[in-house]
Amino acid sequence: MSKAQEHNKAKKYGMVIDLDKCTGCGACMVACMAENNVPFKKDESDKLLSITWMKVYKLTNGKDFPDADICYLPRPCQHCEGQHSGHSPCVSVCPATATDYSTDTGIVSQIYTRCFGCRYCMAACPYHARHFNWWDPVWPAGMEKMLSPDVSVRMRGIVEKCSFCFHRYQRAKDKAYMEDRRELEEHEYQTACTQACPAGAIIFGDLNNPDHEVHKIAQPDPGHHGRPKNPNAFRLLERLGTNPKVYYLSSREWVRKAGDNYLKTEKINKH
Ligand code: SF4
Ligand code: SF4
Repeated sequence: MSKAQEHNKAKKYGMVIDLDKCTGCGACMVACMAENNVPFKKDESDKLLSITWMKVYKLTNGKDFPDADICYLPRPCQHCEGQHSGHSPCVSVCPATATDYSTDTGIVSQIYTRCFGCRYCMAACPYHARHFNWWDPVWPAGMEKMLSPDVSVRMRGIVEKCSFCFHRYQRAKDKAYMEDRRELEEHEYQTACTQACPAGAIIFGDLNNPDHEVHKIAQPDPGHHGRPKNPNAFRLLERLGTNPKVYYLSSREWVRKAGDNYLKTEKINKH
């Protein structure tokens, strides 16, 4: 039996983003918006109101030339598992069960038709990964014909977020079933941002599968809620215990420290 067959049948889809490779070009953001029918406004200058499932942040080490250094950090939804399966911050607070944790895939879903816009999930998410629709989407003339038929558009008054391109998973599963297969190959389910990144900075796959790149790189430790064993890998705000499925890689110590930034006076909860 191969290692792939031996691995836990339940999937845990996740990402590794190599910050030493990311150039901050934003191709992942554009690919995400096009793939998921993410609406945009005429004036996108108010970033608090704009919707970006994938957002690239710029970090600096705060030093002057010649020691100045910068890093670009792409941030999708982290698909948090929490301390026990499904205890994601956003899932725990939703009164409408409009967001859910799939124990089959590890993906945190958003069910638009159930969401009534209370925005508790936005308050609970420590990663600012959720966005509220203040308006119905308006597309430039003719563009509505270019929308993806696989992803429903969202209406005013509801919350949306990155789904790890879940419709691609469903499509890949349908194809596999037609071919009398139950398992997907690694390449059959990939997110749009992963495929669009010209630097190859984003890697996507099953963290439970020892044959998948994400597992090999991050080396998640199941005994410690998925903490990475790779010394160059880290997760954002690790100390909160959200147990995210997005791992970051950096050879630079200041970048790794920035990922779990905290005040000197803060009480740290080591998991
Ligand atoms: S990043 Fe935010 S929206 Fe995504 S699963 Fe975690 S708490 Fe929920
Ligand atoms: S597409 Fe790749 S290189 Fe460009 S910003 Fe996104 S992760 Fe970075």
